[in-house]
Amino acid sequence: MAQPPLPLLVIYTGGTLGMLPSATGLAPAGDFGQRLKTALASLPPARQADLPPFELIETAQPIDSSAATPATWQALANLIADHHTAQRHAGIVVLHGTDTLAWSAASLAYQLQGIDIPVVVTGAMLPLEAEDSDALGNIEAALRFAAEPGFQEVAVSFAGKLLRATRTRKWQTRALDAFTSPNYPPLGEIVDHRPVLYPSRGLAEQQRGAPRFELPHYHANVVRITLWPGIAAWQIAAWLEPPEVQGALLEVWGGGNAPDDPELLGVLARASGEGKLLAALSQCPHGGIEIGHYAAGRGLADAGVLCADDMTPEAALTKLVHLLAQPLTDDQRRNRFLTPLAGER
Ligand code: ASP
Repeated sequence: MAQPPLPLLVIYTGGTLGMLPSATGLAPAGDFGQRLKTALASLPPARQADLPPFELIETAQPIDSSAATPATWQALANLIADHHTAQRHAGIVVLHGTDTLAWSAASLAYQLQGIDIPVVVTGAMLPLEAEDSDALGNIEAALRFAAEPGFQEVAVSFAGKLLRATRTRKWQTRALDAFTSPNYPPLGEIVDHRPVLYPSRGLAEQQRGAPRFELPHYHANVVRITLWPGIAAWQIAAWLEPPEVQGALLEVWGGGNAPDDPELLGVLARASGEGKLLAALSQCPHGGIEIGHYAAGRGLADAGVLCADDMTPEAALTKLVHLLAQPLTDDQRRNRFLTPLAGER
């Protein structure tokens, strides 16, 4: 007799999709399993019948995702890894606030490298019970994508599109189609309420192999510095010199330019020399950078700053945190930063 399909695991962490009005504004709320059941019952019967079976768990304290930290990313990856070991679920759906969803999703992709089941992260711009909410549609789509066995990576499903986790950014504060993937095409989309995948774009095709999870203890102190015209060496030094700071993401200009200021470049070179991991990407969201194309950017390479090419800031910063948490030599960290681990570059 055929075995019934394994259920999906849905992990509710908070975010607008589960919020309820409170005296101080929308606030994270619990009892999401029951509330979701009620909402799903409002779908047309054929769409209800097409939904894969799932079990839902809630994290201990649902949060507004603006409260998430690297410790949150680590706890979430460990929770998924534990359930993955038990092999009782065909896929995972993570329900998450949209504000820092792209950060958590990118971090999960590094921690769960080579995952052989779908991990689909979604959220909503409006609460589940609000009029014209996008929550139910986004959850339905995430469930449908997470039930696709050929799909094996961490991705974000939002407004009918499936995007690679390490390529995703929140792009809108109000529109329901709030996420974008500036430098990589969608991995799939919902057409007539059905999931359509583009397998040649997926990691399952590109990086076959056994899961090789890396679940280090996240402790690294990484800063993010956006350059502006007139930025001075002392301002960069104030960010980089504290001994606790182990790495920095620099958001430079255009195709990889920074001020040709020997004092400023000296601060960067000193930080690199002390073993701090520095990487640069562009303030332009589309296209990558090539450090050294212009003379004005050459100094960055000489100061030991790594090229983050066309990575998103979310993917670059979470990768620095991930690499700094592991027992690697400086050279190994630098090499791994330049090597795609989860399709991030
Ligand atoms: N502040 C909310 C959060 O990120 C926003 C949302 O979910 O859309 O949790």
